[in-house]
Amino acid sequence: MKPLLVCTDFDGTLTTEDPSAPLAPGFFDWLQSARKKGSVSWAVATGRSWEGLREALVGHHAPLFPEWIVTVEREIHRVKDKEAYPLEEWNRTCTEVHEALFGRHGAILERIEKEVGSHEDVTVIPDVGAIGLVVETPDGIAHAEKMVQEILKDRPEILTVRNGPYFRFAHADYHKGSCLGHVQTLLDLGPGSTFVAGDNLNDLSMLTRRYGHYLACPSNSHPEVLAQVGREGGYLAQSPGGTGIAEALNFFFPRG
Ligand SMILES: [Mg+2]
Repeated sequence: MKPLLVCTDFDGTLTTEDPSAPLAPGFFDWLQSARKKGSVSWAVATGRSWEGLREALVGHHAPLFPEWIVTVEREIHRVKDKEAYPLEEWNRTCTEVHEALFGRHGAILERIEKEVGSHEDVTVIPDVGAIGLVVETPDGIAHAEKMVQEILKDRPEILTVRNGPYFRFAHADYHKGSCLGHVQTLLDLGPGSTFVAGDNLNDLSMLTRRYGHYLACPSNSHPEVLAQVGREGGYLAQSPGGTGIAEALNFFFPRG
């Protein structure tokens, strides 16, 4: 088997809604078996912080840790012996770019806080150098999305990163896709050697053939994710969470 990079989201992609369910046993079986035949690197790209991801991996008794992680959808770390080592240059530039972005657009963030945050279903929270929104109901999400789009319509450099009830703001150049691209450069692996899986809107940036020729999403994915993975020729799993991702890996790379 040729060298492969397996990049997965975490929540909803490897986990399911049942917190007591074992974490993606079929996924880890596939990974352990594939590693007997070749070099397989595993990257997790998540909206969580490293502390939040580590807690979830430990809490779920994950038999393996990823070698690479993308945290808060834009910072990159190498993981060794269950410790994360930040990619200093990438993360420093990322922080500087965001400080400058949020500095330039302070008034816009204030508008979002006032106008969108005044809705009863919306809670404004501090979020990596800016504000984020947590929105309780589907109606509230639709309302917040419309208002945020209107406020940001002439600001293409500000990306709205959506994941379930969460809204985060970022520079348009920093997302799971560009982070995965950087990890690929470091590993000297291209899209032809990359499997990518995700379930929610914050995964759309990496679920494209630009980054992976083997794309997949579990059955519980957001409708826009199902549509994009289908359009890009990826695999729409029949099962939710990690069981679905194991199904996709066995489809693309059968164990024989
Ligand atoms: Mg997810």
